[in-house]
Amino acid sequence: MNVYDGQRIAAMLTARGMNQTNDVSKADVIILNTCAVRAKATDKVFSALGRIRNEKKPDALFGIVGCVAREAGADAFRRIPELNFVLGPQSYHKLPEILDNPDTKLLNIDLGGLEKFDELPQMEKSPAVAYIPIQEGCNHCCTYCIVPYTRGREISRPFEDVVKDVIHASKTGAIEICFLGQNVNGYKYTDKAGKIYRLSDLIKEAAKLDAIKRIRFTSSYPTEMTDDLIDIFGTEPKLLPFLNMPIQSGSQNVLTRMNRPYALDLYIDIVDKLKRTRSDIQISSDFIVGFPGETDEDFEKTIDIAKRIKYINSYSFKYSPRPHTAAALMPNQIPENIKAKRLAILDSYLNELQRDFNQSCIGKILTCLYEGPDKTGKHLVYRTPYMQQCITDAIDDNVSSIAKIEITAANKASLRGKILK
Ligand code: SAH
Repeated sequence: MNVYDGQRIAAMLTARGMNQTNDVSKADVIILNTCAVRAKATDKVFSALGRIRNEKKPDALFGIVGCVAREAGADAFRRIPELNFVLGPQSYHKLPEILDNPDTKLLNIDLGGLEKFDELPQMEKSPAVAYIPIQEGCNHCCTYCIVPYTRGREISRPFEDVVKDVIHASKTGAIEICFLGQNVNGYKYTDKAGKIYRLSDLIKEAAKLDAIKRIRFTSSYPTEMTDDLIDIFGTEPKLLPFLNMPIQSGSQNVLTRMNRPYALDLYIDIVDKLKRTRSDIQISSDFIVGFPGETDEDFEKTIDIAKRIKYINSYSFKYSPRPHTAAALMPNQIPENIKAKRLAILDSYLNELQRDFNQSCIGKILTCLYEGPDKTGKHLVYRTPYMQQCITDAIDDNVSSIAKIEITAANKASLRGKILK
């Protein structure tokens, strides 16, 4: 979602005749797009702001957008008085206001719903992977999560608006569509005639476009994997056989305290159903270790479920208490050293699962999306249907965006392969 927001901000400024630079000392406008999910990310923003204010040109406009802006609000100006603007994740389309009035200060952390989508100009050229947001915010209110506060309540974009974006992307260079949402499979839009549209309808619509070869979506909430969505994995070959479906913990007690009230058996049933629908489907997850009150036994159950599902790649985090969340106030907060120990143990299992899966790909032929040359220019980097990085030799200048690649070697981080002509 932040990559998407960043692309839109860049497009908005290039449309005003600006060029992008990564050199802070040369920039006329400096924007930090930020994430507030964990405290570490927020801390990094403020240390970066402190560094940038010393490096920037004195008259350069300088500000933060995104979830840290929403969380810090006016306090950000107090901490860093040089800041010119503080814009939340649903108000960054207001950026031109400060460019037109550089002597003012701009604070807007409103939750404007879908307003930004109507106001942002379309991007002239789509990247090969087009991120298309279909909903914003989240209603699940997991007790650890700041997202419902920073991005607000769940709201789905009109079906026809999303389809318009997909068609535009397909005409301007997109090969892959990635539908985005904090609770992407909760997408639900009712048109004026009362017809209900779900994520599966969007997938069907995108699949009709010849230019679009691959479709995926992220992030999913387990119990919103409705049958129409599961079934489409069996009927739509453009939908990649890969799904990020965060479980967070393998302990029923911890899940209850996280306010993720699904039975573990139900989660396992959903995975089994998906595998029956499409036998080559693979799952990834997010995990939180050291949630308040997590015992050694609870943690063992997380390891057990990871091994049971055989996640092929996962994101794992130490629980980080966040403002405005219920879990931050819970008793039995886990000490940092125990969190770190549990994370290291979980990561070693997850790495093993990832390496096993990567090695199981050797000898297979995978249809991959071209990303670009590597730093040396001697190799090409592709993305497999399972989002693994696959590196091939650059054999000639005739690089096609989609290639069939025979996998020849694998380690934990990536695959090597040979392009089949
Ligand atoms: N549903 C959102 C979740 C965003 S946060 C999405 O679509 O991406 C991504 C991951 O960060 C979550 O799945 C969770 O594993 C982790 N996370 C969220 N809040 C956290 C916290 N307070 N501490 C540690 N990890 C957290």
